[in-house]
Formats: sequence, C-alpha cells, structure tokens
Amino acid sequence: MQGKLNSRLSNKLFFAVMGTALLMGLLFSIVQIMLDARQAQQRLEQEAQQTLTMMRQTATRAALAQDQALARQVVQGLFRNPAVFYAAITLPERPPLASDYRDHQATPFSPLIVSLFGRELSYTLELRGPAAGTGTPAPVLGNLELSLNPAIAADTFIDRSRTVMVVAVTQALLFGTILYLIFQGLIARPMTSLLGSLEEIDPMRPAQNQLDPPRGHEDDELGTWVQKINDLFNAIEKYNSKRRVAEAHVERLSNYDMLTELPNRTMLVRRIEQSIQEATGDQHIFAVLYCALDDFKSVNLLHSYHAGDKLLLTLADRFRADLDPSHTIARVGGDVFAMVIPGLGNDYAAADVAQKVLDCVRRPFRLDNHNINLSATIGITIYPHDAATADQLLKNAENVMQLAKSQGGNHYQFYVANVDQRIRQTKVLEKQLATAAADEQLQLMFQPQIDLETGEVRGAEALVRWQHPEHGMISPVEFIPLAERTGAIVAIGEWVLRNACHALRRWLEAGFSRLTISVNVSAIQLHQSDFVYTVQRVVQESGIPPQHLMLEITETAVMDNVDAAIRILKQMKEIGVQLAVDDFGTGYSSLSYLKKMPMDEIKIDRAFVQDMLEDPDNGTIVDAVVQLGHSLGLAVIAEGTETLDQIRYLQECACDAAQGYYYSRPVNEDAFVTFISQQRAQIKSITQRTAQAGNGLLNK
Ligand code: C2E
Ligand code: CA
Ligand code: CA
Repeated sequence: MQGKLNSRLSNKLFFAVMGTALLMGLLFSIVQIMLDARQAQQRLEQEAQQTLTMMRQTATRAALAQDQALARQVVQGLFRNPAVFYAAITLPERPPLASDYRDHQATPFSPLIVSLFGRELSYTLELRGPAAGTGTPAPVLGNLELSLNPAIAADTFIDRSRTVMVVAVTQALLFGTILYLIFQGLIARPMTSLLGSLEEIDPMRPAQNQLDPPRGHEDDELGTWVQKINDLFNAIEKYNSKRRVAEAHVERLSNYDMLTELPNRTMLVRRIEQSIQEATGDQHIFAVLYCALDDFKSVNLLHSYHAGDKLLLTLADRFRADLDPSHTIARVGGDVFAMVIPGLGNDYAAADVAQKVLDCVRRPFRLDNHNINLSATIGITIYPHDAATADQLLKNAENVMQLAKSQGGNHYQFYVANVDQRIRQTKVLEKQLATAAADEQLQLMFQPQIDLETGEVRGAEALVRWQHPEHGMISPVEFIPLAERTGAIVAIGEWVLRNACHALRRWLEAGFSRLTISVNVSAIQLHQSDFVYTVQRVVQESGIPPQHLMLEITETAVMDNVDAAIRILKQMKEIGVQLAVDDFGTGYSSLSYLKKMPMDEIKIDRAFVQDMLEDPDNGTIVDAVVQLGHSLGLAVIAEGTETLDQIRYLQECACDAAQGYYYSRPVNEDAFVTFISQQRAQIKSITQRTAQAGNGLLNK
C-alpha cells in the first residue's frame, strides 16, 4: 500500500518535472532558433552582396561590350556557389546577356527553411556605365541578378538549430531526473520509512513504538512532524491507560464485593449461567451453596462494624484457603456468602463442601483479644435437579437456607422438590397463626421448676402449644419463629402472659402460695412500645403479686438493641416482676452487659446441661456460670436436666434450681396441679436423700 502510494507520488512528480523541463527546453530552443534564423538571413544577404560586388566590374564590362562570352563566365563563376540556383546579366528591353538556372534542390528541412526564409533569396545589382560628365547620372547598362536556395545556403543554421534542440532536451531530461532524485531522497524515501514505522504502531498502545525522525531530518519540518506525532501518540496512550484503569475500576465495582474482593451477586449469577452452559450431558452436575451466618449482627453490636468487617475478611480468606480453587466463592449480602461447586460426582460431594464451609465458620475468630464463635446455615441446590436457571437455583438455595435457619440454623440442608411445598404450607400456617389465639387453638403447658436445696416445686415455666385443626399439636419450635416473622407473636405472647398469670392466680388461691410462673418473652414483644404497659395491666388484672411473675428473655433479644432493652428491663423491675436470662451460654454471654442489666436469674441452656458430664468443658462452664451468677447476686437455674447424675452435679455446683424431663415434661394445668399436690412431698424426699446419700432415687 505505502509502496504503491509512494510510487504514485514519485511518478506524478516525475511526469510533472519532466514535462515542465521539456516544455521549457523546447520553448527556449525555439526562441534561440528564431534568433539564429534572423542572423543567418542577414549573413546570407551580406555574402550575396559581397559576391555581386566582386563580380560587378567584370559584369559591367560584359554589359558595356555586349560580350556574351564574358557574361557567361561571370554567371558560371556565380554558379560555383552550390546555393545559387539562378544567375543572370540582364539588359533593359533585351533578352539577357547570359543566364543560368538549376533545379531547386529540396532537403528534409525545406519546409522549416521555407517558413523562416521563404522559397528563395533574390538579389539584384545595377550595372552602370561611365558617366558622360559631372552632374549627369551614370546610365544603367543592365542588372546582375542572383537567386539563392536558402535550404542549401543556411546549412550551418540547420546544424546549429539541431544542436540547440538536442542540448535543450538533454538539459531538460537531466534537470528532471535530478529533481526527481532529490525529491526521492528528501521526501519520498523518509515518507516510506515513516509509513513503515506507522504500520507497526499498536493502536491500543501507540506510545510503545515511537517514530524515529528520518536520518538528517531531525531538525527540519519532517523531524518536527515526527515529534508532534509522537507527542500525539503519548497523549493517546496516556488517555488510553487512564481509560483502562477507569474501566477496570468500574468492572471491579460492578462485579466484585469491595470488602472481601470476592465476586458479588452479579458475577455469581454470571458464573452459574456459565456453569449451566458448560454442563451439557447429565454427568455434569453442580451445586449452589447459599451460606448465611447465624446471628452475625451481634458481632457488629457487641464489637463494632469495623470488627465485623475484619471478621468477614478473615472468613473470606479461610474460604479461599480451604475451598478448591475451582469453586466460585461470592459474597452476596452483608453476612451471606454463596459458592458454586462445579463437576460434582454426586450430592454427597456437595455435602462435604458444605461441611467444610461450616467448619471454616465455626473455627473461633480472634478479634481484639476476644474469641468469637460463629455458626452458619447453608441451603444447597443441585443443577439440573432443583432448578434450570441461575436465578431459580439461587432463590431455591436461599429459601432452603431460611427454612433450615427457622429450624435452629447451624447446619446445611439440601433443597428437595417438596421444599417448595413446605414453604407454601408455611405461608398458610403463618396466616392461620394470626388468629390462633382468638380461635382458641392455643394451649398452655407447665413444666415444674424444682428448688435444688429444698426439693420443693418453686414454680413452673409456661410453654405454649398450637392445637391445629388439621395438623394436630404443633411445637413452639416450629411456629414461634413464624409468629415472630409475621408479628403474630405479639398477640400470642399476650395470650400466654394472661393465661399463665391467671393459672398462677388459681394456684395461689389453692394454697400453693410460694409458686412463681416463668413466661417466655420474644425479642419482638420486648421491643413493642406498649409491652411494659401490657405486663402491668395483665399483672393487675390477674391480681398476682408481681414478684411471682418471672419473664424469661434470651440474650440475643437483649443484644438486638442493648440500650433500649436496658431501659425496658428497668421499667419492668419498677413494676416488680422478676427477670431471667434464658438460654444463657448460646449467645454472647457478655459479662459487662449482664452487669448492666437488672436481672434476677440466669437460666443455663440445656445444651450445656445435657452433656456436662460427658464433656468436661461444659461441666466447667456450668460450674463457672453458677459461680458467676452468684457473684453477681443472681440465682441460677439449669434447664434440660434429664438424669439423676446431672441433678447431683448441679447440686455440687450449688446451682439453685433445675427444670427438666427428669422431674416432669411440660404438662397441662390439671396434671401440673396434681403433680404439685401429690408429689411435692416425694420430690422433697428424693432431693433430700440425694443431697444426703446421693443414691436410691427413683424416677417419677
Ligand atoms: P425454652 O424457653 O428453652 O423452653 C424449654 C424447652 O425445653 C421446652 O420446649 C421444653 O419442653 C424443653 N425441655 C424441658 N425439659 C427438657 C429436657 O429435660 N430435655 C429436653 N431435651 N428438652 C426439655 P418447648 O416447649 O418445645 O419450647 C421450645 C421453645 O419454644 C422454648 O424454649 C421457647 O423458646 C419457645 N417457647 C415456648 N413457649 C413460648 C412462649 O409462650 N412464648 C415464646 N416467645 N416462646 C415460647
Ligand atoms: Ca424458656
Ligand atoms: Ca431455654
């Protein structure tokens, strides 16, 4: 291309220069020839006049004497000049004395000569006789006539003209060639080499191959031109790289999570779609894990958002280190991660990965000199069994995660076809739950709490049941989370509170004057603006002494909004009711908060009680919690006691009270009243004997 361009330019120049030079050469030579022609004509005339003058004397003699022989001699003498084609000595009114003529010779240049000089050049010299005297003119005797053929007479002119022409054309050609070569050297060749360099420029990175100015042109316009082009390339390169950085930044922002630098949801969806495309044939199944941390907000509340971020970062690093590099790990929400596990042989492989993820989460985190324990809940969907699109795979995984969370969390669960159905059923249940209290479908059960020192029943925990018209008895473990989600817990909680207080009232009236009633309070209830008022109203309305009512509140319910919770709990204390920390040990068990809160009792979670004899750690924890509670002036009760050995251990630790299947399952009011009236004595004797001898106890 450039070669063609270049030769086109050179050719143009070549023809232009040559044409002009030739034209000028021709023009100048024509002018020269015209000038030469005039000179030649003058010279010929001069020569002719000289010749005639030379012959005048002899010719005059011949004319005077009428001597024909002499006249012929003169004419022949003139004919010695080859250019002469006619010569004569003429007499007035008589035939010529002598004349001669020869053919008018033609030459190749005749036409040019004729156009410049005419066909012939004729000259005449008058011949005069001697004058008769002074004052009289000499008589005319005749004429000497001469005609020249200019084609022969001007032969030197022809030779000269030919030379002029040849020299002019040669000069023109020489001049043209030199100009052409100069142009080639000065412009065309450097242009060609620049074009070559330009073709090597990468349009994306134009500054990488800078143009070199052609040698010898560093300081002229060509050099400046190259310099300007290089400057332009540098500017383009700078702009390009800025643009690339900006583009990369935008791409990172839109596809990656800024904190952990893991892919975000957008990127994850794209990866899942990619996996779907690659998963042709049914041997290519893959899994999507939707992993949400359990109760992560407590970390932010107890520590700081900065600490929470640090923890998430650590977790992301653990995932990166422990999971296979072929897995996509994404952060899709504040405390939610998701993984794509490609090329699964079977569902169990997904379970293995899910277990690995749970292990990563469960390994304690060290934060500001604190150990933090976390757990997570994972929902798993398998392509192509559980859904056909990326969105649906994620959505189903999230749904199954939520379901697993409502069942306690801290585990993984697979999505199966009936999950959808269960979710739908849940929606129906949620609706029915709203009217369960009004429809009189709720029941209260009572589980005795035993004073470990005296062996007496000191009171009961009220536990609600839902007698569903179609599904039968539904456990609070199932429906309380639903009620909390829909807000139905407010009405249900009030129903429980009122019925528990009224039951207590009946027992007090029946003579069990020292009994207390424990009622569970959900976080949602606690943060209702009129909750304190509701409690006060129910206490007054049922007519029980407020200190016989114990409200059980979980740590997490308090941690949701610590300052507000402390305010509410203080108002509660002003009414006179008692407060217990329920499920102690499962949340953050923060001493500093416990101290700030006006609590009366700690309820050790049954998870610690159940294996405190097998797991020495838990045994130590139970012991420590009792000591801790006492040191803060709080009573301590253990829930979930199922064996005599557990009771004994608790007594050794000086735990104040116990509740559990060992004494009684939760029972209805009638059964509870029977229990307290008939077995008070028996339990008393059992506990006393246990305390004394430590054996021979019979389960009821
Ligand atoms: P919770 O407050 O920890 O209640 C104790 C649960 O442990 C009861 O389960 C009780 O039946 C069970 N339990 C008692 N002794 C033993 C034992 O020796 N071994 C074992 N394995 N379990 C024992 P339940 O009645 O199913 O209640 C479960 C949870 O439902 C309660 O846990 C509480 O959080 C919630 N709940 C129950 N009633 C209410 C209520 O009226 N309001 C609110 N907000 N929550 C309630
Ligand atoms: Ca409880
Ligand atoms: Ca509990």
